[in-house]
Amino acid sequence: MGFVLLSERVASCRSIFVFLAVLLLACGLETLYTLVLPSSGAPAIWLANGFLLGFLLIAPSRWFPVYLVACLLADFAFNEGWGTDLPFGIILALCKLSEVAIAFGLLRGRFGARPDPARPGALIRLAITALAAPVFPSIFAADAEFYLHSGAFTTVLVDWYCASALGFIVATPVVLGLLRPHRPSLQMRWEFPPALRYFGLLLAIVVLVFSQTRYPMRFLVFPPLLLIAARRSLVETALGVLFTAMVILGFTRAGHGPISLLAQAGILSQAEKLRIAQIFIFVLSLCALALAAGTEQTRRLRGILAKREQRLRENEQRYRVLAENSGDAIYRMALDGRRLYVSPAAAVMFGFTPEEQVGRNWREDVYSEDWPDVRKELHKLGVGYDDIGFTYRRRCKNGSFVWVDTRVRAVRDRESGNVREYIAISRDISQQKAVEEKLNAANTALATLAATDGLTGISNRRVFDEALEREWRRAQREQASLALLMIDVDHFKPFNDFYGHLAGDDCLKRLAATIGGSLHRPGDLVARFGGEEFAVLLPGTDAAGALELATRIHDAVSALDMKHEVVPLGRITLSIGIASDGPDLFHNASALLRAADRALYAAKHEGRNRSIVTTIDDPDGTKDHNTANTR
Ligand code: GH3
Ligand code: MG
Ligand code: MG
Repeated sequence: MGFVLLSERVASCRSIFVFLAVLLLACGLETLYTLVLPSSGAPAIWLANGFLLGFLLIAPSRWFPVYLVACLLADFAFNEGWGTDLPFGIILALCKLSEVAIAFGLLRGRFGARPDPARPGALIRLAITALAAPVFPSIFAADAEFYLHSGAFTTVLVDWYCASALGFIVATPVVLGLLRPHRPSLQMRWEFPPALRYFGLLLAIVVLVFSQTRYPMRFLVFPPLLLIAARRSLVETALGVLFTAMVILGFTRAGHGPISLLAQAGILSQAEKLRIAQIFIFVLSLCALALAAGTEQTRRLRGILAKREQRLRENEQRYRVLAENSGDAIYRMALDGRRLYVSPAAAVMFGFTPEEQVGRNWREDVYSEDWPDVRKELHKLGVGYDDIGFTYRRRCKNGSFVWVDTRVRAVRDRESGNVREYIAISRDISQQKAVEEKLNAANTALATLAATDGLTGISNRRVFDEALEREWRRAQREQASLALLMIDVDHFKPFNDFYGHLAGDDCLKRLAATIGGSLHRPGDLVARFGGEEFAVLLPGTDAAGALELATRIHDAVSALDMKHEVVPLGRITLSIGIASDGPDLFHNASALLRAADRALYAAKHEGRNRSIVTTIDDPDGTKDHNTANTR
């Protein structure tokens, strides 16, 4: 048969049920009609149309011709078997096909891209289609019967319509149920025995009820069928409905069953009896299939929920494994700061067990001095930041504190967007901090070293140059005075020559300390300018003040009374050049330096052991007014 050419897709995914359904479709007409029609009269149910509709809805469209041709051939065979003449046979076959085409047009796309009778509303659509599709084909068939054979128009119309509608509602769900893509898998070995029990019960009750003609207990077929719908799958319900329909129609036609009882009592005619049976089956099918669809939906939702929960559990387990094997302390915290979860690493880091930490507010463990900085960062969380980081000292169980680097991340509710809790990760950085502190100390020492003169321990030339520039700008800004002393040791070369360089060095050290000791203001700076020259920078000091300090230095050096036997005075003396500038006349820093240097030269020139004060009258400082101060 042409059906063996079924698409690989359908054939591959639908195992034995596909085979059964196709077999039913192919052989259905002859076999079933023989079953249903023991005597004569039109068929009471056209299963072939229902099956065909199911296949068309499921299969890829390239296979449509195969189905249609196969059905046409089967129909012809059936009609030939019943002795129908050729023109009438063609008309009947076309009417049947047009019926399926109308139903297909009405349903296509309505069941979703993958036809599923368990979808909400699918059954209602199928019922409406089953009732609507046969309307016009049945009229045409009745017309054909009337014009070709002068048959009874109304009888053919009603027979045709009812058999077609019933065929759709009974047969289509069987195919859709068996072949739909997301049918729950039937585990044949395990599910067949219980399925057989349910079907056995159904068979027993349906046969019992419809084989007798004494009691009007036709509704007794509902319970076993609804039981299958509630307990088993939609496929099994559809098969149960098909099976029940065939048994009811067979027995009723043969004059048995509760419906035949009404005919025997003269309440119904033979034709009405069959109609009532058809309506009864239609209603029975709808009830059972609707219940089965509902059951399947519930099961499906439960399955989705269970899968989701399972995934959630797995995720949580995965994250827990991560958290518990991480070297960092990981916390979950409530909005008020209470710890909800603490990873084991925290026990190692801080000495608390996780149980001792859960429920406690993490803020209690922040070192009080660090709290203001931490609070400043935490404030960001309140204004919409989702990720903040800070370092602080955290209390350990033994009362000590360790430095930790902490990142806090807000966890928001997916739907509302509100912050639900916080995740914090803390890393012990005490070692890093210790290294940092050492580095800072080393840097400070290095900076001191770089700023200090190696011999005398006072500031070096570099510091002096920077200070001069800085103080110059400040004096300019603040309209203040600035004075500079350039100090040179008198006859130092002979001192070195006579006492040796080490004694010279020692002398320089003592002089540096003496000059430094003469300064009283915190802003004053003494630096070794080079060789045996010193510079003293005096912010906010005018010429008179500078001269006063110079005098103090001379006195202090004189008090030292360092022997210098080569010179007539017999002790070490200094020559000091003094320059001052501001507050009104400002030139530049180097003019001040040049002026002080010239004053020093003048002091040397005029006999040494003295101070000479210079005021700058012009930018070049060429016209200095010197004030001598002889010691
Ligand atoms: P003047 O009174 O004109 O200044 O005579 P002076 O001999 O001091 O002459 P000058 O200023 O040119 O002398 C500089 C000498 O200072 C040269 C050097 O022997 C000595 N000197 C410079 N730096 C050092 C130092 O670091 N240690 C020692 N011991 N002597 C130094
Ligand atoms: Mg000198
Ligand atoms: Mg000198």
